Amino acid sequence: MTNSFIEKEELYCAHNYRPLPVVLTKGEGVYVWDDAGNRYLDMMSAYSAVSHGHCHPKLVAELHKQAQQLNIVSRAFYTDKLGSFLEKACQLTGFECALPMNTGAEAVETALKAARKWAYTVKGVPEDQAEIIACTNNFHGRTIAIVSLSTEPQYKNGFGPFPKGMRVIPYGDPEALQKAITPNTAAFLVEPIQGEGGIIVPSAGYLKKCADVCKKNNVLMICDEVQTGLGRTGKLLAFQHEDMKPDAIVLGKALGGGLLPVSLFLTRRDIMNVFTPGDHGSTFGGNPLAAAVGAKALDVLVEEKLTERAYEIGNYFQDCLKSLKSSLIKEVRGKGLLIGLEIHNQYPAREICLQMLKYGVLSKETHKTVIRFAPPLIITKVQIDVVVNALQKVLKEVEVKS
Ligand code: PLP
Repeated sequence: MTNSFIEKEELYCAHNYRPLPVVLTKGEGVYVWDDAGNRYLDMMSAYSAVSHGHCHPKLVAELHKQAQQLNIVSRAFYTDKLGSFLEKACQLTGFECALPMNTGAEAVETALKAARKWAYTVKGVPEDQAEIIACTNNFHGRTIAIVSLSTEPQYKNGFGPFPKGMRVIPYGDPEALQKAITPNTAAFLVEPIQGEGGIIVPSAGYLKKCADVCKKNNVLMICDEVQTGLGRTGKLLAFQHEDMKPDAIVLGKALGGGLLPVSLFLTRRDIMNVFTPGDHGSTFGGNPLAAAVGAKALDVLVEEKLTERAYEIGNYFQDCLKSLKSSLIKEVRGKGLLIGLEIHNQYPAREICLQMLKYGVLSKETHKTVIRFAPPLIITKVQIDVVVNALQKVLKEVEVKS
């Protein structure tokens, strides 16, 4: 059957992805199964969105319960679910209020809109002059405003014209931030670790220095924690690896418990108050089904100590990967369970991912040379050993061939 599923998807679906040739039909915990019944360890977890594992029973139960009660009503009305979800998210993350959206990109757009309006109404930037600064190699999503900040030509080519007021500075360079700031700068948007950019970890102290620069210049610092947030890097939020707190964050992916798109823009009340009724919205954002699942996803994260697990298992995994002996490996880097293994560029990382399939390991390259390891945070050391053994075998086979 595999081929017919693939053929149909290729025939009817836009070709905006290049999937590995495996057809998935079932998921449970750290595992997914293909249509032939083969089991794989999911080391990708939907680009870090399935931190709780596939079909987590408590999350599925919450989804069922809420689905029978009330699902979509829009924010035209109050519901009994949204307030307590946002209360939980704010209390856990230390922010005062939140604006609910669905995807990560929508929540990033929300952050950009908040920053621009704050610049005009609070900072006093002249009309239509507000500037946003982001970093080279960033990934914040795929909308036109967001890709206008991208330095990856493929993400932008053919999609112009782009909005004005967007600037890009080198990642990891707080002095470049200081130099790029003008009286019209509204915000600095940054990933604490660049995920899609190849799991790039900036040097220690980078975020703190940027926060100091932003504070000194009355610029909002916004951390995009869509991928790094909710335990992934071994802290609840990746900025917490440093002694700093941004003015705002963006959460998504794992917030939906691997079941639904749920995202939030979180900040202080004085910043959020730039939004007044009618300024911004989303038909689905904050719906009761998403709110119930999001709240339960946060409960499970705490109950199952997923952040602590990511820290412990992530260190173990990185140590195992660093001890692998292969001339193909250039570098192992990351924090917690967001790990990149960079291959010397004589060999495509995609080929290694393809080879790992036969040993029951699902992974995916990011850029051409980096294999991304971002499994569900519930993964065990025994399962990590299986992955490391598979990788060792594949690297050996590839070394012989190349
Ligand atoms: N921000 C970051 C850091 C991401 O990694 C992603 C997705 O990979 C996004 C934003 C966009 O999220 P979504 O694909 O849900 O729009």
